[in-house]
Amino acid sequence: MNTVSFSCEIPVRYDVDICITGAGPGGVAAAVTAARQGAKVLLLDAHTMPGGMSTAARVPVLMTVSDGIRLLPDGFGREIIDRSTAAAQAHNFDNGWMPLHAEQLKWIYEDLLTQAGVELLYYARLAAVRTENGTVRETIYAAPSGLFAVKAKIFIDGTGDGTLATWAGAPFDMAPLEEIMPSTLCSFWAGFDWQAYRDGGACTHNDDKMPDLLEAAFKDGSLSTEDFHHTGLVRNSNFTAGGNISHVFGIDGTDERSLTRGLVESRRLLQEYERFYRKNIAGFANAEIVDSGSLLGIRESRRIKGDYTLVLEDFQKRRDFPDEIGRYNFSADIHPPRPTRAQVEEHKKFFRSTACGHGESYGIPYRVLLPQKINNLLTCGRCVSTDRYVHASLRVIPGCWITGQAAGMAAAMAADANCTPREINVQQLRENLRNIGGYFH
Ligand SMILES: Cc1cc2nc3c(=O)[nH]c(=O)nc-3n(C[C@H](O)[C@H](O)[C@H](O)COP(=O)(O)OP(=O)(O)OC[C@H]3O[C@@H](n4cnc5c(N)ncnc54)[C@H](O)[C@@H]3O)c2cc1C
Repeated sequence: MNTVSFSCEIPVRYDVDICITGAGPGGVAAAVTAARQGAKVLLLDAHTMPGGMSTAARVPVLMTVSDGIRLLPDGFGREIIDRSTAAAQAHNFDNGWMPLHAEQLKWIYEDLLTQAGVELLYYARLAAVRTENGTVRETIYAAPSGLFAVKAKIFIDGTGDGTLATWAGAPFDMAPLEEIMPSTLCSFWAGFDWQAYRDGGACTHNDDKMPDLLEAAFKDGSLSTEDFHHTGLVRNSNFTAGGNISHVFGIDGTDERSLTRGLVESRRLLQEYERFYRKNIAGFANAEIVDSGSLLGIRESRRIKGDYTLVLEDFQKRRDFPDEIGRYNFSADIHPPRPTRAQVEEHKKFFRSTACGHGESYGIPYRVLLPQKINNLLTCGRCVSTDRYVHASLRVIPGCWITGQAAGMAAAMAADANCTPREINVQQLRENLRNIGGYFH
């Protein structure tokens, strides 16, 4: 491949205690938590809103937040849930899930960030990382005003994809593309009769009629991609339902060529599903898709290797850890890469086999936030150190709030003590987290 080399002077525009790249659920939780400890925090995102997948990708539902007794993402998560539940009740939702209203979630996140005193910057895409002897010195961003650099004592990777940690030199794992979980462009629908839809009972791959309807559409070609894994729709406002509908396969969330193919393919598929719903689904004869994500929904990409890797056995044994900073319990939801009818049944079986009972959860050790080989960096959210199974549980929004809150607290302690996140007093970290509501053993 041809290469060019060029050098240029890049202004150091910020010198802060903590620099967080990526304002998804993990990054926002980290930023708010750290700033509340008095740290000078800069939060940057390539996109135009806080929330990452939970807003920009229009994910419509909040996954498990409780073990039946306790609120697992307590602390930061409780603040979001308290405000969102009020919004949800106002809309009189009827389906047992805790729906997400992307627009309201943006307002809540921005409100919390502003009140905590976080300096927030959109349109700033991480372009390079300069690391010296395992210490990140500067992160460099491409923005409308040009390139600029940020110096910080502690950096946090909230990119979901582990981009900062990888570019800093941390090792990572990623499933081969033929195995990787498919991506989905989530969508907002309007113009439906929700009661008729509920009464009709043909909603998801778990309902009796849906697999047959899908099979007929695959056979007659009206749905061009065979995909029996149909997670369906959730009512998320008086006027809209959020669709987690259709998959695109083999997408590499770390490669813009693959992401572009995924978006174009998804928009084509959504047109097919809109016709399919109008024709086949009760209450949807006049429905239309009014919006879809401005980011493709990426379920799986890099998992950064940390000082500990949380694995399926830890999950299954509901293991406790001496450095535990949270607990979580959502089943391992590995979307199948080839969703035939048989594979969807396998998926359902495995999903159910990992379900936690009343009061059960697995511990999350602090060490999963500490990328190997790098001194002043923490990860949070989807890219923390797990195997694929635990990733398929912890990747959901409440899990990202838990790891984000812990990363923010740890970063604030390290910045304050002028030490690395590896050197902080972990028992003190746990006490500080408990003081803001964190739940763990
Ligand atoms: C289709 C789909 C459906 C899902 N359904 C559910 C569900 O029903 N319930 C649930 O709880 N969870 C669900 N999830 C999971 C959940 O939404 C995500 O795993 C979670 O949002 C990940 O949070 P995060 O903080 O790690 O990063 P993300 O949400 O991925 O956010 C990362 C942020 O970093 C920014 N960023 C990335 N790279 C750069 C860069 N180079 N420079 C600057 N900024 C950058 C992005 O713009 C983004 O804002 C779903 C996910 C998908 C994809």
